[in-house]
Amino acid sequence: MAEDSSKTQRAPGWTADGTGHVWRPYAQMKTANPPLPVVRTRGSRIVLADGRELVDGIASWWTACHGYNHPHIRQAVERQLAEMPHVMLGGLLHEPAVTLARRLAAMLPGDLDHVFFSDSGSVSVEVALKMALQFWINRGVKGRSQFVAFKGGYHGDTTGAMAVSDSEDGMHALFAGLLPRHHLVDLPDSDERLAALDGLLAQRGGDIAGIIVEPLVQGAGGMKFHDPAVLKRLRALADKYDVLLIFDEIFTGFGRTGTMFACEQANVVPDIITLSKALTGGTVGLAATVATKKVFDAFWSDDSAKALMHGPSYMANALACAAANASLDLFKREPRLRQVGTIAAQLEQGLAPCRQMPGVKDVRVMGAIGVVEMESVANLNALRARFVDESVFIRPFGNVVYLTPAFTIAADELDTLTSAIVKIVRTL
Ligand code: PMP
Repeated sequence: MAEDSSKTQRAPGWTADGTGHVWRPYAQMKTANPPLPVVRTRGSRIVLADGRELVDGIASWWTACHGYNHPHIRQAVERQLAEMPHVMLGGLLHEPAVTLARRLAAMLPGDLDHVFFSDSGSVSVEVALKMALQFWINRGVKGRSQFVAFKGGYHGDTTGAMAVSDSEDGMHALFAGLLPRHHLVDLPDSDERLAALDGLLAQRGGDIAGIIVEPLVQGAGGMKFHDPAVLKRLRALADKYDVLLIFDEIFTGFGRTGTMFACEQANVVPDIITLSKALTGGTVGLAATVATKKVFDAFWSDDSAKALMHGPSYMANALACAAANASLDLFKREPRLRQVGTIAAQLEQGLAPCRQMPGVKDVRVMGAIGVVEMESVANLNALRARFVDESVFIRPFGNVVYLTPAFTIAADELDTLTSAIVKIVRTL
Protein backbone atom coordinates (compact mmCIF):
# COMPACT_ATOMS: atom_id res chain seq x y z
CA MET A 1 0.00 0.00 0.00
CA ALA A 2 1.25 3.51 -0.80
CA GLU A 3 2.49 5.48 2.19
CA ASP A 4 0.38 8.53 2.95
CA SER A 5 2.12 11.86 2.64
CA SER A 6 1.39 12.93 6.21
CA LYS A 7 3.33 10.03 7.65
CA THR A 8 6.70 11.72 7.36
CA GLN A 9 5.39 14.65 9.41
CA ARG A 10 4.21 12.65 12.41
CA ALA A 11 5.51 13.88 15.74
CA PRO A 12 8.09 11.67 17.40
CA GLY A 13 6.64 9.68 20.31
CA TRP A 14 3.02 10.60 19.50
CA THR A 15 1.81 7.03 19.94
CA ALA A 16 2.62 7.05 23.66
CA ASP A 17 1.16 10.39 24.74
CA GLY A 18 0.14 9.37 28.24
CA THR A 19 0.47 12.86 29.66
CA GLY A 20 -3.06 14.08 29.15
CA HIS A 21 -2.26 16.76 26.55
CA VAL A 22 -5.12 15.21 24.63
CA TRP A 23 -7.94 15.02 27.15
CA ARG A 24 -9.83 11.84 26.37
CA PRO A 25 -13.61 11.37 26.23
CA TYR A 26 -15.56 9.48 28.90
CA ALA A 27 -12.32 8.16 30.40
CA GLN A 28 -10.52 8.14 33.70
CA MET A 29 -7.29 8.72 31.89
CA LYS A 30 -5.15 7.51 34.78
CA THR A 31 -6.59 4.00 34.76
CA ALA A 32 -8.14 3.48 31.30
CA ASN A 33 -6.36 1.34 28.73
CA PRO A 34 -3.99 3.53 26.70
CA PRO A 35 -5.69 4.73 23.50
CA LEU A 36 -4.91 2.79 20.34
CA PRO A 37 -2.83 4.94 17.98
CA VAL A 38 -4.47 4.93 14.53
CA VAL A 39 -2.70 5.91 11.33
CA ARG A 40 -5.18 4.99 8.64
CA THR A 41 -8.70 3.75 7.96
CA ARG A 42 -10.32 2.10 4.98
CA GLY A 43 -13.67 0.39 4.57
CA SER A 44 -14.35 -1.33 7.88
CA ARG A 45 -10.70 -1.44 8.89
CA ILE A 46 -8.72 0.61 11.39
CA VAL A 47 -4.94 0.43 10.88
CA LEU A 48 -2.82 0.93 13.99
CA ALA A 49 0.62 2.53 14.15
CA ASP A 50 2.26 -0.85 14.80
CA GLY A 51 0.72 -2.24 11.61
CA ARG A 52 -2.11 -4.22 13.25
CA GLU A 53 -5.51 -4.02 11.56
CA LEU A 54 -8.76 -4.09 13.48
CA VAL A 55 -12.19 -4.85 12.03
CA ASP A 56 -14.36 -1.97 13.19
CA GLY A 57 -17.64 -2.86 14.89
CA ILE A 58 -18.67 0.64 15.92
CA ALA A 59 -18.20 2.78 12.77
CA SER A 60 -16.74 5.60 14.86
CA TRP A 61 -19.64 6.22 17.21
CA TRP A 62 -22.15 5.18 14.51
CA THR A 63 -21.12 7.81 11.97
CA ALA A 64 -19.21 5.99 9.21
CA CYS A 65 -22.17 4.30 7.56
CA HIS A 66 -20.47 3.88 4.15
CA GLY A 67 -17.21 2.64 5.68
CA TYR A 68 -14.14 4.83 5.96
CA ASN A 69 -12.57 6.78 3.08
CA HIS A 70 -15.37 6.29 0.59
CA PRO A 71 -13.93 7.72 -2.65
CA HIS A 72 -17.16 9.49 -3.60
CA ILE A 73 -17.25 11.46 -0.34
CA ARG A 74 -13.50 12.12 -0.46
CA GLN A 75 -13.72 13.55 -3.98
CA ALA A 76 -16.66 15.77 -3.05
CA VAL A 77 -14.80 17.15 -0.04
CA GLU A 78 -11.61 17.67 -2.05
CA ARG A 79 -13.51 19.56 -4.74
CA GLN A 80 -15.19 21.73 -2.14
CA LEU A 81 -11.90 22.34 -0.31
CA ALA A 82 -10.32 23.71 -3.47
CA GLU A 83 -13.29 26.02 -4.05
CA MET A 84 -14.28 27.21 -0.60
CA PRO A 85 -13.77 25.37 2.68
CA HIS A 86 -16.00 27.59 4.76
CA VAL A 87 -17.85 30.86 4.99
CA MET A 88 -19.98 32.09 7.84
CA LEU A 89 -23.71 31.73 7.30
CA GLY A 90 -24.54 35.11 8.84
CA GLY A 91 -25.41 37.24 5.80
CA LEU A 92 -23.98 34.67 3.36
CA LEU A 93 -25.24 31.51 1.69
CA HIS A 94 -23.68 28.73 -0.37
CA GLU A 95 -24.97 26.13 -2.76
CA PRO A 96 -23.95 22.98 -0.81
CA ALA A 97 -26.05 24.17 2.16
CA VAL A 98 -29.09 24.95 0.01
CA THR A 99 -28.85 21.64 -1.83
CA LEU A 100 -28.47 19.71 1.41
CA ALA A 101 -31.41 21.48 3.07
CA ARG A 102 -33.59 20.81 0.02
CA ARG A 103 -32.58 17.18 -0.07
CA LEU A 104 -33.23 16.66 3.63
CA ALA A 105 -36.62 18.35 3.31
CA ALA A 106 -37.49 16.07 0.39
CA MET A 107 -36.40 12.92 2.24
CA LEU A 108 -37.96 13.63 5.60
CA PRO A 109 -41.64 12.82 6.07
CA GLY A 110 -44.39 15.45 6.23
CA ASP A 111 -43.46 19.11 6.10
CA LEU A 112 -40.18 18.89 7.99
CA ASP A 113 -38.82 21.47 5.55
CA HIS A 114 -36.85 24.06 7.52
CA VAL A 115 -33.26 23.14 8.33
CA PHE A 116 -31.08 24.82 10.93
CA PHE A 117 -27.49 23.58 10.59
CA SER A 118 -25.02 23.24 13.44
CA ASP A 119 -21.82 21.36 14.05
CA SER A 120 -22.60 18.53 16.45
CA GLY A 121 -25.46 16.41 17.66
CA SER A 122 -25.55 17.98 21.12
CA VAL A 123 -25.79 21.46 19.64
CA SER A 124 -28.60 20.39 17.33
CA VAL A 125 -30.47 19.22 20.43
CA GLU A 126 -29.80 22.56 22.16
CA VAL A 127 -31.23 24.27 19.09
CA ALA A 128 -34.29 22.00 19.12
CA LEU A 129 -34.98 22.77 22.78
CA LYS A 130 -34.48 26.49 22.27
CA MET A 131 -36.68 26.42 19.17
CA ALA A 132 -39.44 24.69 21.14
CA LEU A 133 -39.20 27.17 24.04
CA GLN A 134 -39.23 30.17 21.71
CA PHE A 135 -42.04 28.70 19.61
CA TRP A 136 -44.35 29.26 22.59
CA ILE A 137 -42.86 32.64 23.53
CA ASN A 138 -43.30 33.86 19.95
CA ARG A 139 -46.93 32.74 20.02
CA GLY A 140 -47.50 34.74 23.20
CA VAL A 141 -47.86 31.68 25.43
CA LYS A 142 -46.12 32.09 28.79
CA GLY A 143 -44.68 29.56 31.20
CA ARG A 144 -43.92 26.64 28.93
CA SER A 145 -40.39 26.01 30.17
CA GLN A 146 -40.34 22.27 30.79
CA PHE A 147 -39.76 19.19 28.68
CA VAL A 148 -40.93 15.64 29.02
CA ALA A 149 -38.00 13.26 28.54
CA PHE A 150 -37.59 9.55 29.11
CA LYS A 151 -35.78 7.22 31.45
CA GLY A 152 -32.90 5.58 29.61
CA GLY A 153 -32.70 8.52 27.18
CA TYR A 154 -29.57 10.33 26.07
CA HIS A 155 -29.43 13.50 24.00
CA GLY A 156 -25.88 14.81 24.32
CA ASP A 157 -23.27 16.21 26.66
CA THR A 158 -23.99 19.96 26.63
CA THR A 159 -25.95 21.22 29.61
CA GLY A 160 -29.36 21.64 27.96
CA ALA A 161 -29.07 18.20 26.38
CA MET A 162 -27.87 16.70 29.66
CA ALA A 163 -30.95 18.08 31.40
CA VAL A 164 -33.24 16.06 29.10
CA SER A 165 -31.09 12.91 29.34
CA ASP A 166 -31.62 10.32 32.05
CA SER A 167 -29.49 11.73 34.82
CA GLU A 168 -30.63 9.12 37.31
CA ASP A 169 -28.71 6.24 35.85
CA GLY A 170 -27.08 7.89 32.86
CA MET A 171 -23.61 9.30 32.48
CA HIS A 172 -24.60 12.73 33.78
CA ALA A 173 -25.63 11.69 37.29
CA LEU A 174 -23.02 13.96 38.89
CA PHE A 175 -24.78 17.04 37.59
CA ALA A 176 -28.31 15.97 38.47
CA GLY A 177 -28.90 18.64 41.10
CA LEU A 178 -27.35 21.42 39.05
CA LEU A 179 -29.36 21.28 35.84
CA PRO A 180 -32.84 22.57 35.08
CA ARG A 181 -35.38 19.97 36.15
CA HIS A 182 -37.62 18.43 33.52
CA HIS A 183 -40.12 15.58 33.71
CA LEU A 184 -38.19 12.33 33.39
CA VAL A 185 -40.75 9.56 32.89
CA ASP A 186 -41.16 6.01 31.58
CA LEU A 187 -41.77 5.53 27.88
CA PRO A 188 -45.48 4.82 27.35
CA ASP A 189 -44.86 1.19 26.44
CA SER A 190 -47.77 -0.17 28.50
CA ASP A 191 -51.33 0.96 29.21
CA GLU A 192 -50.34 1.89 32.74
CA ARG A 193 -47.43 4.05 31.64
CA LEU A 194 -49.52 5.64 28.92
CA ALA A 195 -52.11 6.58 31.54
CA ALA A 196 -49.37 8.02 33.78
CA LEU A 197 -48.01 10.22 31.00
CA ASP A 198 -51.51 11.27 29.99
CA GLY A 199 -52.10 12.24 33.62
CA LEU A 200 -48.90 14.27 33.78
CA LEU A 201 -49.78 16.17 30.62
CA ALA A 202 -53.35 16.74 31.79
CA GLN A 203 -52.05 18.23 35.02
CA ARG A 204 -48.92 20.05 33.85
CA GLY A 205 -49.40 20.48 30.09
CA GLY A 206 -49.44 24.26 30.47
CA ASP A 207 -45.83 24.18 31.76
CA ILE A 208 -44.57 21.90 29.02
CA ALA A 209 -42.97 23.07 25.78
CA GLY A 210 -42.36 19.67 24.28
CA ILE A 211 -41.63 15.97 24.50
CA ILE A 212 -38.20 14.72 23.40
CA VAL A 213 -37.45 11.11 22.54
CA GLU A 214 -34.98 8.93 20.64
CA PRO A 215 -37.36 7.03 18.36
CA LEU A 216 -37.17 3.20 18.44
CA VAL A 217 -33.71 2.96 20.04
CA GLN A 218 -32.32 4.59 23.15
CA GLY A 219 -28.66 4.41 22.16
CA ALA A 220 -26.13 5.63 24.70
CA GLY A 221 -28.60 4.87 27.51
CA GLY A 222 -28.20 1.13 26.91
CA MET A 223 -29.24 0.25 23.33
CA LYS A 224 -32.83 -0.32 24.45
CA PHE A 225 -35.50 -0.83 21.79
CA HIS A 226 -39.16 0.09 21.88
CA ASP A 227 -42.13 -0.52 19.64
CA PRO A 228 -43.25 1.96 16.94
CA ALA A 229 -46.62 2.06 18.78
CA VAL A 230 -44.88 4.07 21.52
CA LEU A 231 -44.18 6.83 19.00
CA LYS A 232 -47.76 6.83 17.80
CA ARG A 233 -48.89 7.27 21.41
CA LEU A 234 -46.49 10.16 21.87
CA ARG A 235 -47.77 11.85 18.73
CA ALA A 236 -51.36 11.42 19.92
CA LEU A 237 -50.52 12.83 23.38
CA ALA A 238 -48.59 15.77 21.91
CA ASP A 239 -51.61 16.60 19.75
CA LYS A 240 -54.10 16.12 22.59
CA TYR A 241 -52.24 18.47 24.94
CA ASP A 242 -50.81 20.77 22.27
CA VAL A 243 -47.11 20.30 23.05
CA LEU A 244 -44.32 19.93 20.51
CA LEU A 245 -42.87 16.50 19.70
CA ILE A 246 -39.11 16.32 19.13
CA PHE A 247 -37.47 13.21 17.69
CA ASP A 248 -33.73 12.91 18.25
CA GLU A 249 -32.67 10.80 15.24
CA ILE A 250 -28.98 11.55 15.68
CA PHE A 251 -28.30 7.84 16.14
CA THR A 252 -31.27 6.30 14.32
CA GLY A 253 -31.30 8.54 11.23
CA PHE A 254 -29.89 7.46 7.85
CA GLY A 255 -30.76 3.79 7.78
CA ARG A 256 -29.45 2.47 11.08
CA THR A 257 -32.77 0.88 12.17
CA GLY A 258 -33.64 -0.47 8.71
CA THR A 259 -35.58 2.51 7.34
CA MET A 260 -34.06 5.83 6.33
CA PHE A 261 -35.50 7.40 9.49
CA ALA A 262 -36.89 5.56 12.50
CA CYS A 263 -40.05 7.69 12.52
CA GLU A 264 -41.07 6.10 9.19
CA GLN A 265 -41.66 2.79 10.99
CA ALA A 266 -44.32 4.43 13.14
CA ASN A 267 -45.66 6.59 10.34
CA VAL A 268 -45.31 9.55 12.68
CA VAL A 269 -44.07 13.05 11.81
CA PRO A 270 -42.50 14.93 14.72
CA ASP A 271 -42.60 18.74 14.90
CA ILE A 272 -38.80 18.92 15.15
CA ILE A 273 -36.17 16.33 14.28
CA THR A 274 -32.43 16.33 15.02
CA LEU A 275 -29.90 14.68 12.72
CA SER A 276 -26.12 14.26 12.86
CA LYS A 277 -23.67 11.32 13.06
CA ALA A 278 -24.17 9.53 9.70
CA LEU A 279 -25.27 12.77 8.02
CA THR A 280 -21.79 13.24 6.52
CA GLY A 281 -21.03 9.52 6.34
CA GLY A 282 -18.63 9.96 9.24
CA THR A 283 -16.35 12.48 7.56
CA VAL A 284 -16.85 15.95 9.06
CA GLY A 285 -18.94 17.11 12.00
CA LEU A 286 -22.35 18.42 10.96
CA ALA A 287 -25.85 18.40 12.44
CA ALA A 288 -29.28 19.63 11.53
CA THR A 289 -32.39 20.61 13.47
CA VAL A 290 -35.31 20.38 11.08
CA ALA A 291 -38.70 21.92 11.83
CA THR A 292 -42.16 21.69 10.32
CA LYS A 293 -43.91 24.67 8.78
CA LYS A 294 -45.99 25.11 11.94
CA VAL A 295 -42.82 25.62 14.01
CA PHE A 296 -41.08 27.74 11.38
CA ASP A 297 -44.11 30.00 10.99
CA ALA A 298 -43.89 31.02 14.65
CA PHE A 299 -40.51 32.61 13.84
CA TRP A 300 -41.46 34.20 10.48
CA SER A 301 -42.47 37.73 11.39
CA ASP A 302 -41.89 41.45 10.94
CA ASP A 303 -40.79 41.47 14.56
CA SER A 304 -37.00 41.00 14.84
CA ALA A 305 -37.40 39.78 18.41
CA LYS A 306 -39.04 36.64 17.02
CA ALA A 307 -35.88 35.54 15.20
CA LEU A 308 -34.09 32.40 16.39
CA MET A 309 -31.02 33.80 18.12
CA HIS A 310 -28.57 31.05 17.38
CA GLY A 311 -25.65 30.80 14.94
CA PRO A 312 -22.60 28.60 15.45
CA SER A 313 -19.44 29.87 13.68
CA TYR A 314 -19.12 26.68 11.68
CA MET A 315 -22.80 26.12 10.95
CA ALA A 316 -23.38 24.61 7.51
CA ASN A 317 -19.63 24.28 6.98
CA ALA A 318 -19.22 23.89 3.22
CA LEU A 319 -16.89 20.87 3.47
CA ALA A 320 -19.38 19.15 5.77
CA CYS A 321 -22.31 19.97 3.49
CA ALA A 322 -20.37 18.62 0.50
CA ALA A 323 -19.67 15.42 2.45
CA ALA A 324 -23.34 15.13 3.44
CA ASN A 325 -24.53 15.65 -0.14
CA ALA A 326 -22.12 12.96 -1.31
CA SER A 327 -23.32 10.68 1.48
CA LEU A 328 -26.92 11.13 0.33
CA ASP A 329 -25.82 10.31 -3.25
CA LEU A 330 -24.51 7.01 -1.92
CA PHE A 331 -27.83 6.18 -0.27
CA LYS A 332 -29.38 6.61 -3.72
CA ARG A 333 -26.74 4.88 -5.80
CA GLU A 334 -25.86 1.99 -3.56
CA PRO A 335 -28.27 -0.46 -1.91
CA ARG A 336 -27.76 0.73 1.66
CA LEU A 337 -31.11 -0.26 3.14
CA ARG A 338 -30.85 -3.71 1.58
CA GLN A 339 -27.38 -4.02 3.09
CA VAL A 340 -28.84 -3.10 6.49
CA GLY A 341 -31.40 -5.91 6.06
CA THR A 342 -28.64 -8.39 5.27
CA ILE A 343 -26.60 -7.21 8.25
CA ALA A 344 -29.66 -7.61 10.53
CA ALA A 345 -30.09 -11.23 9.44
CA GLN A 346 -26.39 -11.95 9.91
CA LEU A 347 -26.34 -10.29 13.33
CA GLU A 348 -29.34 -12.39 14.44
CA GLN A 349 -27.61 -15.56 13.39
CA GLY A 350 -24.11 -14.62 14.48
CA LEU A 351 -25.09 -13.46 17.97
CA ALA A 352 -27.69 -16.21 18.59
CA PRO A 353 -25.25 -18.53 20.44
CA CYS A 354 -24.96 -15.85 23.17
CA ARG A 355 -28.63 -16.31 24.06
CA GLN A 356 -27.91 -19.54 25.94
CA MET A 357 -24.82 -18.30 27.76
CA PRO A 358 -24.78 -17.70 31.51
CA GLY A 359 -24.63 -14.02 32.42
CA VAL A 360 -26.38 -12.93 29.21
CA LYS A 361 -29.58 -11.02 29.93
CA ASP A 362 -30.76 -10.37 26.37
CA VAL A 363 -29.69 -10.53 22.75
CA ARG A 364 -31.46 -8.17 20.36
CA VAL A 365 -31.11 -6.86 16.84
CA MET A 366 -32.71 -3.97 14.98
CA GLY A 367 -31.40 -3.08 11.54
CA ALA A 368 -27.62 -2.71 11.73
CA ILE A 369 -27.60 -2.71 15.54
CA GLY A 370 -26.73 -5.92 17.35
CA VAL A 371 -26.78 -6.01 21.15
CA VAL A 372 -25.69 -8.53 23.76
CA GLU A 373 -26.83 -7.24 27.14
CA MET A 374 -25.02 -8.81 30.08
CA GLU A 375 -26.27 -9.08 33.67
CA SER A 376 -23.14 -7.12 34.53
CA VAL A 377 -19.63 -6.50 33.27
CA ALA A 378 -17.02 -6.70 36.02
CA ASN A 379 -14.06 -5.16 34.21
CA LEU A 380 -14.83 -3.03 31.17
CA ASN A 381 -11.19 -2.14 30.52
CA ALA A 382 -10.18 -5.81 30.44
CA LEU A 383 -13.13 -6.68 28.18
CA ARG A 384 -12.27 -3.92 25.72
CA ALA A 385 -8.64 -5.09 25.60
CA ARG A 386 -9.70 -8.66 24.87
CA PHE A 387 -11.57 -7.53 21.79
CA VAL A 388 -8.44 -5.79 20.53
CA ASP A 389 -6.53 -9.04 21.06
CA GLU A 390 -9.08 -10.63 18.71
CA SER A 391 -8.28 -7.93 16.10
CA VAL A 392 -11.64 -6.22 16.39
CA PHE A 393 -12.65 -2.79 17.66
CA ILE A 394 -15.73 -3.24 19.82
CA ARG A 395 -16.39 -0.85 22.67
CA PRO A 396 -18.79 -2.18 25.27
CA PHE A 397 -20.26 0.29 27.78
CA GLY A 398 -22.15 -0.35 30.99
CA ASN A 399 -23.41 -3.93 30.67
CA VAL A 400 -23.86 -3.76 26.91
CA VAL A 401 -21.70 -5.30 24.18
CA TYR A 402 -22.92 -4.03 20.82
CA LEU A 403 -22.19 -3.77 17.12
CA THR A 404 -23.10 -0.86 14.83
CA PRO A 405 -20.97 -1.64 11.78
CA ALA A 406 -20.70 0.28 8.54
CA PHE A 407 -23.49 -0.76 6.15
CA THR A 408 -20.80 -1.69 3.62
CA ILE A 409 -19.10 -4.22 5.90
CA ALA A 410 -18.22 -7.50 4.16
CA ALA A 411 -19.93 -10.69 5.35
CA ASP A 412 -16.62 -12.20 6.50
CA GLU A 413 -15.73 -9.05 8.44
CA LEU A 414 -19.10 -9.10 10.20
CA ASP A 415 -18.52 -12.76 10.95
CA THR A 416 -15.18 -11.84 12.54
CA LEU A 417 -17.03 -9.36 14.79
CA THR A 418 -19.85 -11.68 15.89
CA SER A 419 -17.43 -14.60 16.37
CA ALA A 420 -15.24 -12.46 18.62
CA ILE A 421 -18.28 -11.55 20.74
CA VAL A 422 -19.44 -15.17 20.97
CA LYS A 423 -15.93 -16.34 21.90
CA ILE A 424 -15.38 -13.71 24.58
CA VAL A 425 -18.88 -13.58 26.10
CA ARG A 426 -18.67 -17.35 26.58
CA THR A 427 -15.74 -16.86 28.96
CA LEU A 428 -17.25 -14.03 31.04
N1 PMP B 1 -28.39 12.42 20.65
C1 PMP B 1 -28.18 11.10 20.50
C2 PMP B 1 -29.36 10.19 20.35
C3 PMP B 1 -26.89 10.61 20.46
O1 PMP B 1 -26.68 9.29 20.32
C4 PMP B 1 -25.79 11.50 20.57
C5 PMP B 1 -24.36 11.04 20.53
N2 PMP B 1 -24.07 9.80 21.01
C6 PMP B 1 -26.06 12.87 20.71
C7 PMP B 1 -27.38 13.30 20.75
C8 PMP B 1 -24.95 13.87 20.83
O2 PMP B 1 -24.28 14.00 19.62
P1 PMP B 1 -22.79 14.59 19.57
O3 PMP B 1 -21.92 13.56 20.23
O4 PMP B 1 -22.51 14.74 18.12
O5 PMP B 1 -22.80 15.89 20.30
